[in-house]
Amino acid sequence: MDSPQVPVGGGSSVVERPLLQVQNISCNYDLERAVFDLSLTVNRGEQVCLLGPSGCGKTTALRAIAGFHPVLTGGIFINDQQVSSAGAMVPPEARRVGMVFQDHALFPHLSVQQNVASGLRQFSVSDRKEAVADMLERMGLARHAKRYPHELSGGQQQRVALARALAPRPLLLLMDEPFSNLDQELRERMGQEVSDMLKENDITCVMVTHDQNDAFALGDKVGVMEDGAIVQWDTPYDLYHRPQNHFVADFIGSGVFLEGALCSVNGVTTALGDLSSETALDWTAGSQVEVLIRPDDVIYDPQGPVKAQVMRRAFKGAEIMYTLRTRSQITLLALFPSHANFEIGDEVSVRLEVDHLVAFPKESLPE
Ligand code: ATP
Repeated sequence: MDSPQVPVGGGSSVVERPLLQVQNISCNYDLERAVFDLSLTVNRGEQVCLLGPSGCGKTTALRAIAGFHPVLTGGIFINDQQVSSAGAMVPPEARRVGMVFQDHALFPHLSVQQNVASGLRQFSVSDRKEAVADMLERMGLARHAKRYPHELSGGQQQRVALARALAPRPLLLLMDEPFSNLDQELRERMGQEVSDMLKENDITCVMVTHDQNDAFALGDKVGVMEDGAIVQWDTPYDLYHRPQNHFVADFIGSGVFLEGALCSVNGVTTALGDLSSETALDWTAGSQVEVLIRPDDVIYDPQGPVKAQVMRRAFKGAEIMYTLRTRSQITLLALFPSHANFEIGDEVSVRLEVDHLVAFPKESLPE
């Protein structure tokens, strides 16, 4: 198969070389489209995530990269070798990818060390022993080597699944919702732990998830998917602060949309005051827009100009998330430090402090 044109490092300047290139792939189930014209590039040592709601095509895209699902158009390249194209597919075992599944898929009748060794049949006995011992040590599993999966906690099982996927030293690690069976606290801890481990060991990884916290914990870059396509490929920071369309703004984080009108090249008038953008807004003066107001844009301020009543509250430890209704019947979400402790029905004063103004023309909103 052909190789794509990739920049090759040379001399003293370091040129990033992609390990994975997905170029304009589409995948179907019978006649139903699941992935459409999807492209992405992952450099060596980079960790990326595909994030999107259920049914948007994340798993199908990952399965196409792994070699379990054919592509109808476009191509997939791993380490400069084309592994998928219309009508041709290098089998999964020849792609040098490691896979971690949602349910861990450990063999229940094999011990931890046997599970980790199960992907190393092509290794010599001594190399296999060494590779298993090394992975168990690195994953903090050495003292559980002889246990069976049912004798492990959810987090330990997850580590065994990772150890098994990484033991054959794959070029690329693929993970499908790896934390979804863990409870919230463990999930956050594992997300951070796995991210640190991948970074320390320079492992290139693609993860798919519908959970933005998982995606943000692990992804250097995150691709938000809708209807089989990536609608924004960006850093977690920019996805949150600079969403490119209404879908991404809605899907990432929380917030409400406030109606407004353009009053200057970078200013919007709203019922709750004038807001300004760091950059010029592209629409003509007077255009009707919707401005995204994040909970952290709503500041508790006893002298603030906006009076609102507390409709709901959710205690989150260091912070409290309030649902507020202004006197003009506008609903806001507000995240206050938890010493700003109000009861339902209390009236509070707030001001808006929007550092990154995100606005979309009103006519582009879905019906
Ligand atoms: P989830 O987060 O729920 O796993 P996803 O984003 O991973 O969803 P996919 O599993 O890739 O989405 O599914 C994409 C589309 O393809 C969906 O419309 C789904 O119904 C359809 N689909 C998935 N698997 C099959 C299948 N085996 N046969 C037919 N259609 C399928």
